[in-house]
Amino acid sequence: MKRTLYIPLLIAVALFASCKSGKYDATEKVYKKKATEYADLYKEAPVESQLAKINSNDKEWIASINFGIRKPNYVMIHHTAQDSLAQTVKTFHSAKAGVSSHYVIGRDGKIVQMVNDLFRGHHAGAGKWGNDTDLNSSSIGIELDNNGTTDPWSDAQINALIALLTTLKDTYKIPQANFIGHMDYAPTRKNDPSRFPWKKLAQSGFGYWYDEYLETPPANFDVKLALRIIGYDVKNLDAAIKGFKHHYIQNNANSANLNDQELKILYSIFKKYL
Ligand SMILES: [Zn+2]
Repeated sequence: MKRTLYIPLLIAVALFASCKSGKYDATEKVYKKKATEYADLYKEAPVESQLAKINSNDKEWIASINFGIRKPNYVMIHHTAQDSLAQTVKTFHSAKAGVSSHYVIGRDGKIVQMVNDLFRGHHAGAGKWGNDTDLNSSSIGIELDNNGTTDPWSDAQINALIALLTTLKDTYKIPQANFIGHMDYAPTRKNDPSRFPWKKLAQSGFGYWYDEYLETPPANFDVKLALRIIGYDVKNLDAAIKGFKHHYIQNNANSANLNDQELKILYSIFKKYL
């Protein structure tokens, strides 16, 4: 008796599940198709497409048995400058916008993953950090839902970020110095994440913050060289100073001047990168 009732119920549940059309079915399908196409690139053996490009008459493919998947070595943090997590998800579904990040974190602390860590997200754009000009290839992008001007950073959101960063740092062995902001990588174009609690992140081992006690830098302290050693692109020195200020000073950051206190902060950060 019980069994006869149970079976129609199971069939009904199965039918409901198969007919249910999810809000994101279309974009999931596109993701899966692209992921399959990229998987085909990995499967190529011999790798004729790459060997053919090498200008040599004496070349051969002989497969090794020892290799793995390349891993991200940086994390880049952003603010979305949008009004909700849903709005950001919509943007990352727009082929016209062409942008994405691996993760989006809502104001309530919800973590949404949108791209496999092993794929290249489209969040960094043009820029330079150290000598790396393609952070999209070497980083995980994290977008934090925040309008970028007045929204406070909630504890729930920052705690969720720290939990995610802990996993990423541990999984991919990412150095403390390699947790940076979009403003660091692209200071001519970006100031995000703005007004951001970098100090709290640094205390948890993600990025650096300056010492409580600040030393006076030596008379020959070179601002340009210090910024370059930290990682900034100093081709446009004013932009690099502003990027640094958006990250570490967060006050009067649209001016490229550094007062005595700000120079001491730069000196403190610079020494951490030596
Ligand atoms: Zn950004």
